[in-house]
Amino acid sequence: MSDSPVIECGQLTQIYRVGSSEVIALQGLDLQVQAGEMLGIVGASGSGKSTLMAVLSATMRPTGGHVTIAGLDLGAASSTDLDSYRQRTIGTVLQDSGRNLLPYLTARKNISLPLELAGASGARERADELLDLVGLSGRAGHRPYELSGGEQQRVALAVALAHEPTVLLADEPTGALDSASTEDIFSLMRRIGEELGLTQVIVSHDPELARHVDRVVAIRDGRVASERRWILGDGKSGEIDEVLVVDTIGRLQLTEAQLDLLDRSRRVRAEIVDGVIEIRRAGEDGP
Ligand code: ADP
Ligand code: MG
Repeated sequence: MSDSPVIECGQLTQIYRVGSSEVIALQGLDLQVQAGEMLGIVGASGSGKSTLMAVLSATMRPTGGHVTIAGLDLGAASSTDLDSYRQRTIGTVLQDSGRNLLPYLTARKNISLPLELAGASGARERADELLDLVGLSGRAGHRPYELSGGEQQRVALAVALAHEPTVLLADEPTGALDSASTEDIFSLMRRIGEELGLTQVIVSHDPELARHVDRVVAIRDGRVASERRWILGDGKSGEIDEVLVVDTIGRLQLTEAQLDLLDRSRRVRAEIVDGVIEIRRAGEDGP
């Protein structure tokens, strides 16, 4: 993993207009993902995860702020550059394999067809290589309904990697899988990511996600609230190290437990005492 960020979001905002009302799905989100990093994203339903993924995959232009991926400013890029970005730079995997794969095509054809349409030679050989990479050489002739959910997502991963993207974006790729298949997909993505030097962003609800990725970012109300890393201890056990994230304009989201400790008070005093910041309810000497 090198130190140059491949993905950089600064104070990203995304607003949906529905009739005369507005939904603010991202409200000043800062995020950096390093080259070769495998980043996990978690957050309650409606916190803005899919909106962020849609912006990163250039499905939507951001309403405000900026996002740069592999040197391309997605807010300012021409539509030709965005087409090329979508076709070359990124690969995407979605939760629903019905949206990842064409139901009447075999696994091999699902992988080779987009390559053939793009005029690539040796598409069939490339498809077989990719099936081997995802451990499905024996299933080349199977159609999606003849594969398990986990196998379908392996094929989806092969499809996403066929054009050799440098960034892989996956929105709940294991959302429809049981925990054993989820583990399989995460370890496969880890192995392939390392092998191909991919930068990966994976949205997931799975509590085990932190074990597989380099870093997990928690999104709350359209902003990055905290960051977790899985720290390996000695032996088999490990632990999660969690830090809060202060954004570029100084905002910080306290945890639920911390808000409880402040009695959910909306006004607090933050004072520096002996080089430590103490936060108390305003007007009293609370905890
Ligand atoms: P998540 O993926 O974390 O569940 P989303 O990004 O899908 O969250 O949604 C964030 C917020 O934006 C939610 O309040 C959701 O209702 C709203 N939203 C998402 N997509 C649209 C849309 N196409 N039009 C209007 N509002 C939307
Ligand atoms: Mg979502």
